[in-house]
Amino acid sequence: MKGLPFRRINSIVLQLTLLYTISAFTILLFSSVYLYNVLVDDLNNTDISLIRNEIRLIKQALSHTQGQITLDAQSNASTARKPYYIRVMDANGNTLLETPDMSLEFNRSDFPDISASGINTSTKMVTNVDGYHYILGIDTLNITGTNPKHYQIQVAVNTEHHHYLIFKYRLRLAIILGIGIIISALLGALIARRGLKPLHRMAETIGRISISQLHARMDSHDWPKELTELVGAFNNMLERLERSFNQLKQFSADLAHELRTPIHHLVVETEISLSRGRTLEEYRETLESNLEEYGTLTSLIDRLLFLARAENPQTAINYVDIEVSEELAAIIEFHEAVAEEKNMTITLHCPPLTLAVDNVLFQRAVNNLLSNALKYSRPNDTVTVDVSTDEQKVYIAIKDSGPGIAEEHLSRLFDRFYRVDFARTKKEGGHGLGLAIVKSIMELHQGTVTVTSIVGKGTIFTLIFPKFSPKETSS
Ligand code: ATP
Ligand code: MG
Repeated sequence: MKGLPFRRINSIVLQLTLLYTISAFTILLFSSVYLYNVLVDDLNNTDISLIRNEIRLIKQALSHTQGQITLDAQSNASTARKPYYIRVMDANGNTLLETPDMSLEFNRSDFPDISASGINTSTKMVTNVDGYHYILGIDTLNITGTNPKHYQIQVAVNTEHHHYLIFKYRLRLAIILGIGIIISALLGALIARRGLKPLHRMAETIGRISISQLHARMDSHDWPKELTELVGAFNNMLERLERSFNQLKQFSADLAHELRTPIHHLVVETEISLSRGRTLEEYRETLESNLEEYGTLTSLIDRLLFLARAENPQTAINYVDIEVSEELAAIIEFHEAVAEEKNMTITLHCPPLTLAVDNVLFQRAVNNLLSNALKYSRPNDTVTVDVSTDEQKVYIAIKDSGPGIAEEHLSRLFDRFYRVDFARTKKEGGHGLGLAIVKSIMELHQGTVTVTSIVGKGTIFTLIFPKFSPKETSS
């Protein structure tokens, strides 16, 4: 409907009603005009046949009587207006016979010219001096033989009744068109309302879905074909909402759980210290232990805050060009001490390469993956950092020869607070946030992180960065 004025009408019912009315009116108008023309043509043809027949009869009478015909009573009667007038003239134009008053009603010049062949009757529609409608006909008759004669016959037939009929027909058509437009508008509105009923029903159904019924789905068979796409899209939206809502619920439960343990430790240790008098040394030990718990809590809250900020679409990141091999070498050096403790080696393979990233976030992502690789691998395992590149992307793969991760955990690995071996990782102080942070950092860089793992053989986490300049991202 682009470009049409209907576009501005903010109601589908009104738009459909208008369109329906216009189309119904157009059809009605065309058929009325057509029927009207057919009627006018038919009546004209009837008039023409009538006048031709009249002239034929006069010709016959003239032929039979050798020009000695008289007018019948009707023609002679001196009523004001006659149904037809007849004039017969000889070759010199002298009137031989004429309906009384014919010259008052019509001039000779009103009649059409005789057709060139002289065979056909020529006709013409006229309105006389009083505004009445007549059809005029003219023809000639040549009588051959011993006494040849030439006649010109003029006939005028009153067609007023036909004009009155056409006038009445026109009036009725106008009334029908007027009523037609009103009926089609009413029908249009009714049809449009009826057609939109499923939408109202759908609005009611959707309105009934509360937060506790996010599992509900609309059955696509219950709706007209045109709405099944909408129903499908709505069901998909419900599914996404349900998933997000459940994740949020899970997140709140996990968060409460994560906070409860250190706070519980703090409460218990403080209560024990206060239960009786303690030495200065004992108080110091309690405070030191509490400080550790405070540290854990602070780190947990910091990381959660980071994740919350990273999820905000307006979070701006500070792109700089880094030399990837230099940056990775520095990060690896930072982890060297831990690696040595477990008798592990970290190897770097990286071609000379510049990449636009937020350096702080880049370091954080690689650090999280490297510390996982070191933390979950066994002594003497190896860790390799492999960098490769293609036309559009840079791949930083962090591979370890550690215990690997079973297939069923891989899809949830990047969820917050998700840990494969809960008891073990918890003991090692992990909160299950490291990989969620890596995922957020990669999303901020419009990149991705993938994982492949074989149990008993090792795990590969790959950071995939798009190769673009910071200017392109800001535009
Ligand atoms: P955090 O990183 O918050 O201190 P975390 O290391 O437990 O805690 P993630 O880094 O998100 O959390 O890792 C999630 C889980 O994935 C870990 O608990 C661990 O079980 C598993 N995991 C991660 N990296 C590896 C790896 N390289 N090898 C084996 N398992 C791993
Ligand atoms: Mg970790």
